[in-house]
Amino acid sequence: MEFRLIDRIRDRTALAREDVRLGIGDDAAVLAVPPGQELAVAIDTLVEGVHFPRGTAPRDIGWKALAVNLSDLAAMGATPAWALLALTLPHGDAAIVDGLADGFAQLAREHGVALVGGDTTRGPFCLSVAVHGFVPPGQAMTRGGARAGDAVFVTGSLGSAAGGLQLVQGRVPFDPGDEAHRTLRERLDRPTPRVRAGVAVRAHASACIDVSDGLLADLGHICAASGVGAEVDPAALPLSTALPGVFGLEVARELALTGGDDYELCFTVPTASIDAMQAALAAVGAHATRIGAIVEGQGVHLTGGAPLAAVRRGWDHFGA
Ligand code: ADP
Ligand code: MG
Repeated sequence: MEFRLIDRIRDRTALAREDVRLGIGDDAAVLAVPPGQELAVAIDTLVEGVHFPRGTAPRDIGWKALAVNLSDLAAMGATPAWALLALTLPHGDAAIVDGLADGFAQLAREHGVALVGGDTTRGPFCLSVAVHGFVPPGQAMTRGGARAGDAVFVTGSLGSAAGGLQLVQGRVPFDPGDEAHRTLRERLDRPTPRVRAGVAVRAHASACIDVSDGLLADLGHICAASGVGAEVDPAALPLSTALPGVFGLEVARELALTGGDDYELCFTVPTASIDAMQAALAAVGAHATRIGAIVEGQGVHLTGGAPLAAVRRGWDHFGA
């Protein structure tokens, strides 16, 4: 089945790049890393029913498979260049392949990313995307550089994707006529990788991670890697207008703290660098909100000592 499907994917994702010496069609791609740059590479797999709900539109799946990978490069401060796509499908369904390729291509073009190869096999529906990006030597952001006293920032808003998942799962029934509902679904299905923001804060941040598993979990990774603790003020969490509108403020904050799939960047900045960082973000049309501070110790705590259980009372609104 593979050849005609591969041709469809190649045609739909076509994007010319000087540094792609040989793209789809041979046994391997041949790529020219720009002199004086380091290569940042990442791979992520999306499995139907685990990483996207069954019945998600193929275009959204193709978009998301690339988005979650570009988000990993963004967290390193790398500029994306190339991608590989390993596709496993139960049937060689051209309409599904076209949808996947179109969604993938739409986001790839926004970032000038060339699809240079992959693999196509039959089996349970899943996709793996690998991405490659460039970063100046020694300048990649890591999870390990946060120091006590640094401020903690997050781009965009948190919790909306988790709100979208609640709607999919029917805790609050999805109403396609409700604009706020549609906004939250969109955040789940079509996350925006913060690529430009990652490059902009690279010179200023001491540590960075993308929020895929939830703020508490992912900021916890920065803390563990850096040997520090963090304090987060729940009242400072940036929320979309739609989220508290649909779920109420208490649940919205809970979702912002613990919900996954937002793909915002969470990063730490020495206080002396905050102004320069904000200016660099503004220059690329991005913004970030200060949500807390790095402290000595370990683990993530909420300001005022509010135990998470108190925040979790929000779930009562679902009758759970
Ligand atoms: P091989 O058997 O030598 O690995 P394949 O038949 O799997 O080659 O793939 C042929 C060409 O098509 C290769 O260049 C491969 O990278 C590319 N390719 C296969 N599947 C995909 C895909 N899903 N997306 C992009 N390129 C693909
Ligand atoms: Mg071969």
